[in-house]
Parts: sequence; structure tokens; C-alpha cells
Amino acid sequence: MHQVYIRTYGCQMNERDSDQVAQMFMERGGYFMTPDEAEADVILINTCSVRDQAEQKALGKMGLMGRLRKQKPHVVYGFLGCMAQSRGEELLQTIPHLDLVAGTQKYHRVVDYVDTILKKRLERQMDDERFSIVDVAEEEGSQNTIRDQELQANQATAFVSIMQGCNMKCTFCIVPYTRGSERARPIAEIVDECRRLAASGVKEVTLLGQIVNRYAIKEFPTVDGKSPFVQLLDAIHGIEGIERIRFTSPHPIGYREDLIEAFARLPKLCSHIHLPLQSGSERILKAMHRPYSPQRFLEICEKMRAVRPGLAITTDVIVGFPGETEEDYAATKEVVRKADFDNAFIFRYSPRRGTPAADLPDEIQLPERVKEERNQDLLSLINDQAKPKYAALVGKDVEVLCEGYSKTTEERLMGRTSQNKIVVFPGPVERLTGRIFSVRVTETHGFTLYADPVTVS
Ligand code: SF4
Repeated sequence: MHQVYIRTYGCQMNERDSDQVAQMFMERGGYFMTPDEAEADVILINTCSVRDQAEQKALGKMGLMGRLRKQKPHVVYGFLGCMAQSRGEELLQTIPHLDLVAGTQKYHRVVDYVDTILKKRLERQMDDERFSIVDVAEEEGSQNTIRDQELQANQATAFVSIMQGCNMKCTFCIVPYTRGSERARPIAEIVDECRRLAASGVKEVTLLGQIVNRYAIKEFPTVDGKSPFVQLLDAIHGIEGIERIRFTSPHPIGYREDLIEAFARLPKLCSHIHLPLQSGSERILKAMHRPYSPQRFLEICEKMRAVRPGLAITTDVIVGFPGETEEDYAATKEVVRKADFDNAFIFRYSPRRGTPAADLPDEIQLPERVKEERNQDLLSLINDQAKPKYAALVGKDVEVLCEGYSKTTEERLMGRTSQNKIVVFPGPVERLTGRIFSVRVTETHGFTLYADPVTVS
């Protein structure tokens, strides 16, 4: 038996991909998963390329783990995912003990590759020559290989991968180069997966895709004015047992009338949308290759709140994009003020190799100091906006889906509201996990609500 350790960096899509790889190891037989890297015979890091920091962390971690090779020379080391895709062969030079580099369309091949490497090791025991596998080629149909998943007991929520890749080519973003072009899974297969999840007790599904609300826009037809994404939402909404539907990560241009209207008629759609702004300056949005205006962005917020009162909106903003002036930044603050977000992820622009923005002249790159100042300034604006929204919930009852123990302690449980607000409260884990009930909010710290359970029948 071989023990497999997988470390994941990055987004929910990566988490889902890692789960799938883990499941494939278990199904193969002869492998089991371990949370302890020191115990492992196979060490895999599923990587993220969205920011340089994430790449450096993964490289640093793999570098450190190489020390184990001296004590356990049989260990197989591999990089999976986005950085594996974008750097390929070059990683073998950077990390001498690396055995496997498998790109984003190769997750389903990882177990075979590890098998092969282990076999070769046995054959070549007396042979110093190194054997490694690098596979970052495109593979037709690879989007259909991330599907059924192993669930934990009482698992209340699940991620469902509905598509891979992105055709938008925002100039700052490496995703189109690491995840490839848009490829959708068929609606029927996704719905079947959701049905099976519901039958296993899952109450909430989060649909995943790099540009999720443009799902299959070119591959499948519009029917009765409904895009393939809205057709998919309709189909999942009809599944008995699924009580909540979320999706991430969307693009503002995917919020067309049919999707806005879906929030009016499909109550299982949660009252939270993530709507990445990136910049509030028309000029910078153009330079980013984001095809919407600040006005259109605010119009979407307004329309969405009109069809779904109480809707929470969160966003992503990049500060310090090359050429961003004080006026551009002021325009971003203005849109942030008007949009009145519930929370935001603020990123300092960092050039990603191979993206168009990375080739912009040095003269228009902003100093780190300016990026940091804008980052802190925007964070404090977002905090000022969000705090009253949280404070207003103290003393009120909110409905949560209980997901199990809180992340920090097994003495308390956690759940999320439909607005995606995290609530921590006491209670018996077996009885409450997977159930939707009301809790009364007693206090708030940061972006967490604390509550006592009140009505559990
Ligand atoms: S839409 Fe999203 S994933 Fe696609 S290129 Fe733009 S930022 Fe990247």
C-alpha cells in the first residue's frame, strides 16, 4: 500500500480537482490518502498560477519536501495543475527531485503516471538514470473527467465542476493559458451528478467554472431565450433534496436578462452573487480587456437587488494595474462606494509571465508602495461598508445550512446563510449537520457572525 499526500493551493476549482485525484487513487486500490506528508510515499502539490506568491509557495514547499528524499528515496514527487501547465518541463530543472508534472487537462491520468513511475523505480533500482513524466498537452473531453466525488459522512455541501477553461483573455490573467479554452460538460451529466449528490444527503451545490455564467455559450443552443447556464440552473433547481444553488466564478457580461430573471423565479438560488469589478475606471477596464463599463456594472447590481431584495454582492478588485492613475483609482473607489459590497478580495497587480499586461512598458508599472497604499485604502473602505451590514444582523434570526464543525474548534459548529455569511454557533454536530434552521445572531467579529441555535424542530 502507498500513502498519498496532496497539498492544494488556489481556488475551489483546484480543491475540487484534488478531491477527484484523491478519489481516483482510492478507486485504483493499493493507495490510501494521508494528511501527513512525512508518512507519504507519493507527494503531490496542486498548484495555482494566479499570483506569483502562490507559485513561490508551491515551489518553496516542494523544495523543502525534497529533504525527505534522503530518508525515503522511493517517494514520488509531483506538481499538478496551473503552474505545472504553464511551466512544464522547466520545473524539472528548478526542482531536481521532481518526478511528475501533470497539467490541468491531465488530472485523470495522475494515478497511471504515479503507477508507472513506481514500476520504473523497481525496474531501475540499480540504475541512477532519472525517470520522470511531464504531460501538459491538451486533451479532448478532459472536462468530463472531473465528476462523481467521494463524500464525507453527513456532507451538506459539494462543488460541481461544470466547465473548464476561459476564452476571455483578460490581459492580467494567466488562466486562459493554464486552463485552456472553454469546454463544457453536458447538462444531463451535471444534473445526474447533482441528483446523486442529493441522494447522498447534499443540500447545497456550488457550480464551478472559470467563467461559470457563460457556461457552454458557444457549445449548446439558447432555448426559449434561456442561455445554457440558465437551462442548467432550471434543471438543478428541479432536483428534490437540493435546497441551495451557488456558482463561482462569474463574469459581469454573463449577467444577462435571463440570468437576472432566474433570481426572481428560482428560490433555491442563494441570495449572494460574486461580481468581479476589477476596476472602476473605464480606461483601465479597456486595458484589462474587460468588456463592460462601470455604469453597466452598477446597473447589474441594481437590477439584481431589484429582483432579489437582500442580495449580498461580493467582488474582486485589482489595484495598481499598469498605468492606473490617481483618477483611475478614484473612479474605482467611487464604484465601490456605489455598489455597496458585502465583502471584497483586493489584489495588488502582479505581472504574470506570458500575459499581455506583463509586457507593458516598465515606465507605466506602479511602485509596490503605491499598490500597497491603494490596497489598504480600499480594504478600509470595504470594511466600512461591510461592518454595518454585519452589525445589523445582531439580535436577528438568520437561516443557516449547518456544514459541521467550525474551522477553528470542534466545540462549535458553522453554517452559512443564503447571503454566504459564516455563522458560528454551539450544538450537537450529528443532529444539526446538513440541516437548515434559524439561529439568533448574538455578536459579530470581522466577517463572522456568532449565534445561539433557536429553532430546530
Ligand atoms: S474571465 Fe476570469 S478567468 Fe477568464 S481571463 Fe478574465 S479573469 Fe481570467
